[in-house]
Amino acid sequence: MTHAHEESRDPERSQLEQNQDDLWMELAIEQARLAEKSGEVPVGAVLIKDGMLLAKGHNRNLLDSDPTAHAEIVVLREAAAKIGNYRLGGCELFVTIEPCSMCAGAVMHARLDRVIYGAGDPKAGAAGSVLQILNHPKLNHTLEVRPGVLAEKCSDILKTFFQSRRKAQEQTQQAQEEE
Ligand code: ZN
Repeated sequence: MTHAHEESRDPERSQLEQNQDDLWMELAIEQARLAEKSGEVPVGAVLIKDGMLLAKGHNRNLLDSDPTAHAEIVVLREAAAKIGNYRLGGCELFVTIEPCSMCAGAVMHARLDRVIYGAGDPKAGAAGSVLQILNHPKLNHTLEVRPGVLAEKCSDILKTFFQSRRKAQEQTQQAQEEE
């Protein structure tokens, strides 16, 4: 299956900048894989300022027993604490999946410059898939949103994770039925 239609190539941006985006997204993907190892839904994120890595992280809902511990929130908190300011102007957030409404809300509060995400999320995405919180015309902050960066790779990690979780659940069910 190809997701070529999800790939966004902005002619305004140079090839070099797009390649740089790919590299940061690879780091976010690395974080998603770490999440998977902990049994978390594999979503990873990195936060960049002036071409420097400020924070990296992944979903930690189970690890921290925290419903708000999505990858985006984890890196926003870490970056804000690091620079001692809850406003993160000039920063770019890379995340492997389209932010949900909670994370998109936090992004708007933090006044980020750019959000770059991998796979779209037709179930919870708040960059337009389900809701539009990022760049909502009635909110007083606008930022650049670039979807579809390494989208296929990002969504494959999630697909594989949910497939194997479903399989494990089926096996447990079967075992219970046989008892
Ligand atoms: Zn979220």
